[in-house]
Amino acid sequence: MSGGWAAKELCELGASVLVLEAGPMIVPERDYGEHLPPHEMTYRGWNDRKALAAEQPVQRDCYACDEVARKFFVNDIENPYTTDPDKPFSWIRGRQVGGRSIMWARQSYRLSDLDFEANLKDGNGVDWPLRYAELAPWYDHVEAFAGISGRAEGLPQLPDGVFLPPMEMSCVEAQVRDGIARAYGDDRRMTIGRTAVLTVDHEGRRACHYCGPCHRGCITRSYFSSINATLPAAEATGRLVLRPNSVVAEVLWDPRSSRVSGVRVVDAESHDELEFTGRTVFLAASALESTRLLLNSKSSDFPDGLANSSGVLGKYLMDHTMGVGAHASFDGYEDRVIRGRRPNGIYIARFANVTEPRSDFLRGYGYQGSASRAGWWRGESMAGFGADFKNELLSPGPWSFGIEGFGECLPREENHVRLDPEQVDKWGIPTLRISCAWGDNERAMMRQAAEDAAEMLEAGGGRDISIDYQLLPPGLTIHEMGTARMGRDPATSVLNAHNQAWDAPNLFVVDGACMTSSACQNPSLTYMALAARASHYAVDASRRGEL
Ligand SMILES: Cc1cc2nc3c(=O)[nH]c(=O)nc-3n(C[C@H](O)[C@H](O)[C@H](O)COP(=O)(O)OP(=O)(O)OC[C@H]3O[C@@H](n4cnc5c(N)ncnc54)[C@H](O)[C@@H]3O)c2cc1C
Ligand code: SF4
Repeated sequence: MSGGWAAKELCELGASVLVLEAGPMIVPERDYGEHLPPHEMTYRGWNDRKALAAEQPVQRDCYACDEVARKFFVNDIENPYTTDPDKPFSWIRGRQVGGRSIMWARQSYRLSDLDFEANLKDGNGVDWPLRYAELAPWYDHVEAFAGISGRAEGLPQLPDGVFLPPMEMSCVEAQVRDGIARAYGDDRRMTIGRTAVLTVDHEGRRACHYCGPCHRGCITRSYFSSINATLPAAEATGRLVLRPNSVVAEVLWDPRSSRVSGVRVVDAESHDELEFTGRTVFLAASALESTRLLLNSKSSDFPDGLANSSGVLGKYLMDHTMGVGAHASFDGYEDRVIRGRRPNGIYIARFANVTEPRSDFLRGYGYQGSASRAGWWRGESMAGFGADFKNELLSPGPWSFGIEGFGECLPREENHVRLDPEQVDKWGIPTLRISCAWGDNERAMMRQAAEDAAEMLEAGGGRDISIDYQLLPPGLTIHEMGTARMGRDPATSVLNAHNQAWDAPNLFVVDGACMTSSACQNPSLTYMALAARASHYAVDASRRGEL
């Protein structure tokens, strides 16, 4: 995701760019499968459970790792990692051209100064070296190209963006939105999800036709991914060279010039070792992979990993808390059906410690969810027999609505990664040992999130409300971030305000590793904005002779 942005911006600014990608090339006409009907799939779209258990015991926990999309998730045996025995971490990864931008759920929200100032105000982590005003033009820049559909709400904690027309809420969602507005006034706001899916034709890409299983690819290029959008733009400049199957093992450091000189690569297929040199190196291998690379790049100047003079490389790992919310049934609207498969849900903006102060935890959470009508599979738990039973299942069932909280995770030093002293991956590269657990703040926050979820469904007219409280292990929200954080002080951070390593002027880390705090919004839009901003900074600095 972030690598595609760096490639596009750098190429468009006139740089010659070599993109090294560990995994294979993806050919949409061959590899995407969003239009495959269930009867053409061996497991009808579910999965080959034996193969999953043997090859993807971690990835199978991700809802999107289905029969078609499984090939976009890593093989866990070839790409191992270890965890502390009592601290499970589900590391969900994609290893192909396009990375996880192929399977992501496309929810795209801006951070605000509430987020950029939080560390400074409550003393957790270090202060972000930038504020919203500096990033806002870059959010505009990436949104305008990617195409984000959504509705402007004027909320300071969830800044509006450059939006394409919003998708429509269903009747039950609209009812709950109005119920929340009646009960909480301006304190709580439900809006339609802001999503990187085109509602109108845009930048040569076609509007979405609501077919639904986006995690299997999108042949009409209606959602934003590196393959659908940024890499073609980079390629169009004639300055991009893309080398798939190129596993970067190490960033090379030149002690004489105090600069990085290039990378050592293992060819994924032949296992041959290669070296590529360059004036500037951008790491965008995803938060933990970029940090793993830096930790593995040791020299006499950096015995504990490249760019790690602060000693904080690998520390302050974060993810969002998930698995907590509520759902309810709704009466009425029996004559209304949902047409198409809207690839988007609703969003309830953060209110805890914004409009509603809380004394038992810091920071807050937003909610995502959607309303639906039960389908024929409700017959699994219903008594019945014969033609009448089947006919009954042919009509849509009752309405229900579920919402789930996404909570902020504090940056804490003890949540960290380091190199495993013994284990290597299929390409002989040391793997990560991950140590991460939720803290008291995250648990207290999620208890409140569950109660608030139930209250809002009640305010919206729901009945038979039940609370879901199954806090997922870290990693499984798939928003892992931090471990090479930005900061104002080289003694306590790895990167400066421009994603540039304090210790190496021609090294940039432009993925989620740079995050100084997690906020509670889905993070990828922020990675995109930061990657674009860093790319422009690098080209300007190079032109000034500083790189
Ligand atoms: C099912 C799912 C749903 C999601 N939903 C959302 C959402 O709604 N909103 C949101 O904001 N985020 C979402 N995410 C998270 C989002 O996908 C990631 O935040 C985003 O893709 C991270 O971008 P990235 O560039 O850092 O990493 P990636 O997209 O993972 O790309 C990293 C690339 O680096 C390559 N690579 C790794 N190691 C090496 C190496 N050593 N050498 C060479 N190449 C290497 C990988 O093969 C990959 O192509 C979701 C993710 C998944 C899987
Ligand atoms: S973005 Fe739209 S057209 Fe593309 S796969 Fe998703 S639902 Fe289908």
